Amino acid sequence: MVTCVPAGRSPVPATEPRGVPKIDHLGIAVNSLEASIPLYAALLGENPTGHEEVPSEGVKVAFFGRGGGRVELLEPTGDDSPVAVFLDRRGPGLHHVCLSVADLEEAVLRAEEAGATLVPPGVRSGAEGRRVAFLHPRSAGGVLIELVESER
Ligand code: ZN
Repeated sequence: MVTCVPAGRSPVPATEPRGVPKIDHLGIAVNSLEASIPLYAALLGENPTGHEEVPSEGVKVAFFGRGGGRVELLEPTGDDSPVAVFLDRRGPGLHHVCLSVADLEEAVLRAEEAGATLVPPGVRSGAEGRRVAFLHPRSAGGVLIELVESER
């Protein structure tokens, strides 16, 4: 009988994590919410369920849907917005994937232990007043990952 022993440390903690992360939303960078909303409203069969400005991220956002698997459109509010930089470099498109986690600090710690870095460092207040952290794409397989604490 052959027994396989994994090399190195498992990225999965020995104890059960509190809940399995789920896709909360997909963030899509757009030049204009006004110009982009009609297409997404037609595709998703409803008008946005929420609009807000997030000064800490330099964006105006519109959310479609409820619960998990929502779509967030992001329009920069200034040239120094990270989304403006993204649009200059890559044009409109998929900007980030947001995962909902039960415990944000625990998820950040696990991600850092697995080699991810936060950009910018630390936990912050994001859209909908929820606590968020972002993992730098260079440390996360080329994808900007937003972690958000699930509502308790
Ligand atoms: Zn987001």
